[in-house]
Amino acid sequence: YDLRNEDLKDLRELGQGNGGSVKKVEHTPTGTIMAKKIVLIDAKPAVRKQILRELHIMHDCHSPYIVSFYGAFVSDPNICICMEFMDKGSLDGIYKKTGPIDVEVVSKVALAVLEGLTYLYDVHRIIHRDIKPSNILFNSEGHIKICDFGVSGELINSIADTFVGTSTYMSPERIQGAQYTVKSDVWSLGISLIELALGRFPFSDSSSDDSDLSDLEGTLSPARPGSLALPTGRSRDSVLAEQKKQKDKRNKRKSKGVSLQGGGMTMSILELLQHIVNEPAPRLTPDGRFPQMAEDFVDSCLLKDPDVRQTPKQLLKHPWIDHARKSDFNLAEWASTF
Ligand code: ADP
Ligand code: MG
Repeated sequence: YDLRNEDLKDLRELGQGNGGSVKKVEHTPTGTIMAKKIVLIDAKPAVRKQILRELHIMHDCHSPYIVSFYGAFVSDPNICICMEFMDKGSLDGIYKKTGPIDVEVVSKVALAVLEGLTYLYDVHRIIHRDIKPSNILFNSEGHIKICDFGVSGELINSIADTFVGTSTYMSPERIQGAQYTVKSDVWSLGISLIELALGRFPFSDSSSDDSDLSDLEGTLSPARPGSLALPTGRSRDSVLAEQKKQKDKRNKRKSKGVSLQGGGMTMSILELLQHIVNEPAPRLTPDGRFPQMAEDFVDSCLLKDPDVRQTPKQLLKHPWIDHARKSDFNLAEWASTF
């Protein structure tokens, strides 16, 4: 495809994230339905060109567990990324509609994500960096695929302050500033699986106070000394503008009585990060409600020490994943129930 913005007809909005929005579009010359992600970045033309070059390797990513890539282009001042449209949306949207997801389906999700991560790393040396339910997509054919992986270092830098809100799937070693490895993605997978199986974000300990997230605007600002180590690379103004947008979004959600990202989260971001580092990892509880193999798999993903945590490739050999592979649970049929 030679993609041009004027050839893409908007059909509907699919969702909004930290860095921009995603629309369902039709490529009118070919009639192909696509998902168009609009990434808001203020970067110089040279940087944007570099981002496009880096995104190019997505053309070589071919796996049944990775959302296909149609192309990317600059549409001033944004970058647009066009990808396969997944008609059942992301897994967060699904469980918010259906309630907790059947553990058989969750095992298939684990299998698909591990396969996708193993492909990205083994073939392209790409680490995903943003595994979470909203980046795991589903379609009515019953396919589960991951999207939004970190192919472009420049793009990661340009939207580096998407910290608030997405940090919650972050591994303890990442919070403490260690290098990203494939094992950090495994942690994020573990948290995501619990969220799907319980139908709620696992760190929603209601025993903590209800301190307002907006208090942390300042705390998390990279401009403030003594704050957490944050990726830099953006002007202070753009950071502040983005934070204001986030805050407005949260206030809107609050006024509608909807809980914060992740669902039911009552901890502040800072408390949450401290909790992840200092407290025992969450588990697929209560004991006995889920198969032993599932509990054991999640425990392996959530080993706090990355040295003992396994890689996606190693975890593909886990008995629960083996079980998922052999299971004849019909995902296409399941898809037709919502
Ligand atoms: P986030 O992943 O943080 O929610 P994004 O901007 O990446 O933010 O995506 C916003 C929403 O758009 C996602 O939650 C998902 O539901 C939807 N979406 C993204 N990509 C696709 C796609 N290829 N097909 C269908 N829906 C998509
Ligand atoms: Mg996403």
